[in-house]
Amino acid sequence: MIRVTAIETGKARMKTAQRTGQDGRNGFQRKIDIFRDRNWVSPLPILCFLIEHPEGRFLVDTGDTWRNSVPGYLPRWNPFFTKEVSIRVAPQEEIGPRLSALGLDPARDLEAVILTHFHHDHTGGLDHFPHNRIIAPRENYEVSKGLKGMMMGCLPQRWPIWFRPELVEMDGPPVGPFASSHPITEDGRIFLVPTPGHARGHVAVVVRAEDVTYFLAGDATYDEANLRAEKADGVTNDPALSVATLKAIKAFATNEPTIILPAHDPEGPSRLDHRQVFA
Ligand SMILES: [Zn+2]
Repeated sequence: MIRVTAIETGKARMKTAQRTGQDGRNGFQRKIDIFRDRNWVSPLPILCFLIEHPEGRFLVDTGDTWRNSVPGYLPRWNPFFTKEVSIRVAPQEEIGPRLSALGLDPARDLEAVILTHFHHDHTGGLDHFPHNRIIAPRENYEVSKGLKGMMMGCLPQRWPIWFRPELVEMDGPPVGPFASSHPITEDGRIFLVPTPGHARGHVAVVVRAEDVTYFLAGDATYDEANLRAEKADGVTNDPALSVATLKAIKAFATNEPTIILPAHDPEGPSRLDHRQVFA
């Protein structure tokens, strides 16, 4: 029996121009649009997903940390962190306490943590997993470290000093519209697919349960409406690549009954509860 559970780890606020970019604007223009935009979307959930599988439990992404709101945590030289996004996480909303509340001890009860990408609202909870295998896409890791990463929404200077993720390539067979994949479980029911655009080397986690497929989209799209409309977000450096990824996800999800679960879609948990597939 395979089961997927959504775990909310606090809220993120962003500008409307970040959630949905304007067609025809390139990556640079989209960032200007975000700085100029005065409209904020309602607070969005920061979601992690727990997968229970016969080979073990897997956690997808780790959310952010309450320390994000402590002065000095975010670099002041990059106003994107401090002015364009607002992370609201209470200490007890972090992924560690959330897992404890479910009766889980990360060190004992998790087979691995999987990161879709290294943006800070997906890595901020890493401190809770010093004893775990952490699987992440190599291509995204390469652009997320150092100064380059700090320019692009990552906080490598805040990663735990013990952090040595198991970096993986998309070295597995094509799956439907995706040119490659990477297996996570022996039975092939959990695997990664490349979903670049929002960030270079971004991956999504696919879970093929007995009766339905779960598509844990990370930030490949912020919500199902933008996926349906093939609207790229405001932070992509390559809008055309983002749209190609959205088309691939749609093609995948129309081929087999699939529940779409992005990391910041307020409707995702209710689709999961009601087993509402993409159509
Ligand atoms: Zn992201």
